[in-house]
Amino acid sequence: MIGTEQIIEITYLVATALFILSLKWLSSPSTARHGVRAGELGMLLAVGGTLLHHDIVDYKWIAIGLVLGTIIGVPLGKVQMTAVPQRTALSHAFGALCVTLVGTAEFYLRAPDVPRFMMAVLSMEVILGSLTFTGSLMAAGKLQEILPQRPITYRGQNIVNLSLLAIAVGVAAYLVLHPGQTQYFPAVVGIPLVFGVLMIIPIGGADMPTVISLLNSYAGLSAAAMGFVLDSKLLIIAGALDGASGFILSVNMSKAMNRSFSNVLFGAFGQEQAAGAAVQQAQPVRSATAEEAAAILAAANKVVIVPGYGMAVAQAQHKVRELYDALTKRGVDVKFGIHPVAGRMPGHMNVLLAEADIPYDKLLDMEEINGDFPQTDVALVIGANDVTNPAARNDASSPIYGMPILDVDKARTVMVIKRSMSPGFAGIDNPLYYLDKTLMLFGDAKSFVGALVRELAGGQS
Ligand code: NDP
Repeated sequence: MIGTEQIIEITYLVATALFILSLKWLSSPSTARHGVRAGELGMLLAVGGTLLHHDIVDYKWIAIGLVLGTIIGVPLGKVQMTAVPQRTALSHAFGALCVTLVGTAEFYLRAPDVPRFMMAVLSMEVILGSLTFTGSLMAAGKLQEILPQRPITYRGQNIVNLSLLAIAVGVAAYLVLHPGQTQYFPAVVGIPLVFGVLMIIPIGGADMPTVISLLNSYAGLSAAAMGFVLDSKLLIIAGALDGASGFILSVNMSKAMNRSFSNVLFGAFGQEQAAGAAVQQAQPVRSATAEEAAAILAAANKVVIVPGYGMAVAQAQHKVRELYDALTKRGVDVKFGIHPVAGRMPGHMNVLLAEADIPYDKLLDMEEINGDFPQTDVALVIGANDVTNPAARNDASSPIYGMPILDVDKARTVMVIKRSMSPGFAGIDNPLYYLDKTLMLFGDAKSFVGALVRELAGGQS
């Protein structure tokens, strides 16, 4: 007969395997859906297994927690795709708050007899949990524009911040040696709460997605530390997976923007360019109507579509699919060039285009597509801006200098769908728009692409 303990162990083992498979599958668009399902099933098993635990004497509070979590979680799951970064930050905030509360409860339950190793991991859990809680709330506030996106800096800021963190670690180290001195424990929770706020203040809104990914990794590490405190192997493994994947993601995002990690965290990016944006160049641009643009597209042999944040905001992906169909039907070779940080989160464009059933083999990464632009008749940019800005390649004084870009300016003709001459997320002007070969197609991405599809279909539809 298998006892409850064995059932719990088996569910945890299967859940762990599913978490690992989930991460593996999420790394490719063709298997990403399986990845999401595997992660969901893993979490269901983990929660289900935990509910069987013999230490649970009363289910009342658990039931209340489940109901409250569902009431908060269901609407959070329905936010627009463009709001996913701030929604993810809120999830970290809740997770980190939970970890901090559990750590605090464990300390007071065990004090004054807290073994040294236990006190060390408990301190790590509580410090990371607290700073992730307030840091994530700040990051979500900045992205939602409830808080100012601009970095706020002052002299000696980094020293003040790092000193605060050092004090919290110092107090924690003292408690490892003297766990009976419980009066110092609130400092181990309180100082990192303040640090979390101060850590985010000097970081510009443009860097928030990278910071959120880093906070994700802190939340994972704090959960792994909680796993040691609660003696839960599942938490240790899931937390370590979360911590490692969040860290790798933030490093990859920094690389895609050609920024060092320390520049993202301490560089106050977004300050000078906000001022620079005010000095908008009043240069002439060439614009075209949907009719003219459709005629050029219809005459092309090779078209590369470059989507960006504007396509996501306009929810234009299904119209883009119709455009792809209309052009392919006319024998035009259509591919998509995907920049790793196009949009507001990694994989943003892949997710949207996959939702519109664009074949995966037509979605090419920046390195794969860049060599094709010189032989491309038309590069059609749909709501992308910074990721196509040639200043990143040519202008050493540009704040985004060195960021790898999609070389759309090397195509024979460039067409850009956007509503105005406003800058993108980095807040800087784009010299691409003033080239002789560039045609600006002013309008909302969804309606303009719809108009192109109608023109290509000969005015019907
Ligand atoms: P950008 O933010 O540079 O530009 C988006 C453009 O879309 C704007 O210029 C805007 O112009 C246009 N737009 C907005 N709404 C619409 C609409 N309804 N229809 C048509 N156009 C619209 O986007 P990119 O995707 O090119 O670049 C992403 C930026 O985000 C980069 O700076 C990147 O570093 C940053 N970032 C991305 C991360 C990621 O993980 N993806 C992480 C961290 C940062 P207009 O207002 O004139 O319409």
